[in-house]
Amino acid sequence: RAKADGRGACRFFEPAMDARLQERRRLELDLRRALAASEFELYYQPLVNAQSSEIIGFEALLRWNHPERGQVPPAEFIPLAEEIGLIIPLGEWVLRDACREAAAWPRKLKVAVNLSPVQFRSPTLLHTAVSALGMSGLSPHRLELEITESVLLHDSAATLALLHQLRALGVRIAMDDFGTGYSSLSYLRSFPFDKIKIDRSFVRELGEKSDCLAIVKAVAGLGASLGITTTAEGVETPEQLDRVREQGCTEVQGYLFSRPRPASEVRALIDSRSTWVGQAARGSDRQG
Ligand code: C2E
Ligand code: MG
Ligand code: MG
Ligand code: MG
Repeated sequence: RAKADGRGACRFFEPAMDARLQERRRLELDLRRALAASEFELYYQPLVNAQSSEIIGFEALLRWNHPERGQVPPAEFIPLAEEIGLIIPLGEWVLRDACREAAAWPRKLKVAVNLSPVQFRSPTLLHTAVSALGMSGLSPHRLELEITESVLLHDSAATLALLHQLRALGVRIAMDDFGTGYSSLSYLRSFPFDKIKIDRSFVRELGEKSDCLAIVKAVAGLGASLGITTTAEGVETPEQLDRVREQGCTEVQGYLFSRPRPASEVRALIDSRSTWVGQAARGSDRQG
């Protein structure tokens, strides 16, 4: 009771805070309604072979088409969805929709799906993955699950067991945003990842900062000696593409090739890839 009074007093004396809380509550109600109202949509961004510039797959990226606010980026609603537990049904929808979509693509193409650490603490994740694969008929080796270091923060036996179970299905596991968390190297020891995605903050400053170049080089070297793919995220310029190629990254992703696009445009991206492969190659010629 004292607590409730306290909150009331707080609200009374701090209208700005009250406005923020109201806004949050509105967003929360909106978010709960949005799943049923089919306001979520997956966009797809190409993953590209660094050497050949061929598309090898797409990363699914969640968008919220809000009836009044327009399109809301994931950074603005995923944290809240995690807090209120909505990420579980939402993450299920993402996995099912991405698998269903990818099953219609040419067979050599993979789909990468981002998983929240909260999904890892839920007992339903394994079953969700199995049923998404089963319902879509997508071959498990065409599904890649992207997790961040924070999933391994507790390094619990249960988390590792779950990762191994997922991998036993045949799906691949990628470490996303590598270099932004803590103790990255020890995480690489605790679980055999199939891919490391180098965070785009390192790629962005490749031209200006020699330490970024050293880090990209070291991670690409690490990937090579571990025998796993290294993806450079956020490649925006032909110069950045040349640098990450030189340093030995095996895969690239970024606005240079394509921004994330709606599912309906994936086919056109696959068909027209010679155009932007040509563009990227020309950029590389210019550089070298
Ligand atoms: P992420 O998994 O690291 O995804 C890459 C982000 O970088 C995407 O932002 C993408 O649009 C953006 N990006 C790609 N290339 C470039 C580039 O060349 N330059 C710049 N400046 N940005 C680039 P987006 O779509 O806003 O997603 C942000 C984050 O939200 C994702 O980061 C991921 O952590 C999370 N997210 C997205 N979709 C989902 C989802 O379905 N489930 C979960 N749990 N998280 C998701
Ligand atoms: Mg990702
Ligand atoms: Mg990333
Ligand atoms: Mg990121």
